[in-house]
Amino acid sequence: GSGQTSPALVAAMDRAVDAVLEAESHLTDLDRQVGDGDLGTNLARGARAVRDRRGDLSRAPDAKTFYLALAHILRKEVGGTSGPLYALLALGLADAIEDGVVSPERAVLAHGLEAAVERIQELGGAKLGDGTMLDALIPAAQALAEGEEDDVVVLQAAREGAQATAEGVAAKGRASYLGDRSVGVPDPGAMAVTVWLAAVSSR
Ligand code: ADP
Ligand code: MG
Ligand code: MG
Repeated sequence: GSGQTSPALVAAMDRAVDAVLEAESHLTDLDRQVGDGDLGTNLARGARAVRDRRGDLSRAPDAKTFYLALAHILRKEVGGTSGPLYALLALGLADAIEDGVVSPERAVLAHGLEAAVERIQELGGAKLGDGTMLDALIPAAQALAEGEEDDVVVLQAAREGAQATAEGVAAKGRASYLGDRSVGVPDPGAMAVTVWLAAVSSR
């Protein structure tokens, strides 16, 4: 192709990788309280793999190819339940972007995110309010789809959704086995979404 992944996309990826690595022990700690204590490890493994493949990713001819390669890496390298779910996230974005587009429009990303959410729901069977990563992802996707131009507002929607998971009893994922013992602790996967989303949307 004639184009190349936009430097902004690669820079956002770099920030997400750094943020996930920085949050590794915090996420693991949360998952230790309501899950099996490996979320930080699972995501950090993916982040390191993405960092190792940074050269290839930054030479992707367009954004679709970039997200497809990312999906491939995440599916192979991210452990636990998060692996396939994050692969679907990247695949949803890839599918929404037309060939040859280097910097996808915000509306296209919004559409991709919504499609990804649907696929994650099909695979995992969770819905909004079940106390999973979707509780952060769905509000963010909705804000984007409504045309919200301010990244801070989109991020705030994700943060509020993640925070709300601390109030309810998880209905899906390992935290659901705890019943009301999961009350008071936010869902680790939802918190992870806020970590990388904050990094991606900060400049
Ligand atoms: P595992 O339970 O396999 O160790 P991870 O630690 O990788 O999984 O990820 C845990 C997170 O995955 C949870 O905090 C939750 O946000 C998310 N999760 C778990 N089950 C589902 C599901 N069915 N749908 C969406 N997200 C889920
Ligand atoms: Mg876990
Ligand atoms: Mg696990």
